[in-house]
Amino acid sequence: MMYLQYILVFIFGTIIGSFLNVVIYRIPRKESIVYPPSHCTKCGHKLKPVDLFPVLSYILLKGRCRHCGEKISIRYPAVEFLTGFIFFIIFYHFGLSIKALSYIFLSAVLVAITFIDIEHKIIPNKIILTGLIGGIIFRVLLYNYGILDYVIGFALGGGILLLISIISGGGMGGGDIKLMALIGLFVGWKLTLTTLFIAVLLGAIGGIILIILKVKTRKDYIPFGPYISMACLISILYGYDLLNLYIGYIRG
Ligand SMILES: [Zn+2]
Repeated sequence: MMYLQYILVFIFGTIIGSFLNVVIYRIPRKESIVYPPSHCTKCGHKLKPVDLFPVLSYILLKGRCRHCGEKISIRYPAVEFLTGFIFFIIFYHFGLSIKALSYIFLSAVLVAITFIDIEHKIIPNKIILTGLIGGIIFRVLLYNYGILDYVIGFALGGGILLLISIISGGGMGGGDIKLMALIGLFVGWKLTLTTLFIAVLLGAIGGIILIILKVKTRKDYIPFGPYISMACLISILYGYDLLNLYIGYIRG
């Protein structure tokens, strides 16, 4: 019976992922996310309901538009699968709870931000604002977890990056600052710190790999949003384990 729940959560995730694909494509292009309905971006052919089925439709269509044969980006099934997988892991870790739902909401926001930041090197205010509204609603629903911890997380996450931005003379984007503040509101101040720490670590490793592979040069701007997002997910799942490990280590 438990298996069925996991499968349903995964499928729910792929459906949300399908919606995130629309968000990722249209928000940076300043298009409406509700109108017009999904269509091929080349020939404008309207997608049939069967073409909207996450992941599977891509496989059935062999990655091409049914009408004009235009290649469909692998990003579409990738985002759908990834979102399904993340929802599954969070549900597996936290069970069906409001806390798990708050993390599922946050992870959907992070998926959208990651793919937009990679392609357009921006983190749209619309998405940050949506995240903030969700964050405030979840703080009210989860009031038994306390509020102060999360308000501090919000101030600390945004504050540290703002400070780095001022010191480095704008080396940190405004979107990253807002994103870290948003994350703090969801995860509290402790996991905000582990998120920052892991993000810097991943950013350094990722940057070196991209430069070695010659995907980027030292002078290129490398978006930090994807690293923050990945670090946040790791912190949600394993942040307290890492903190305990660290505290055990410094106590000897
Ligand atoms: Zn087409």
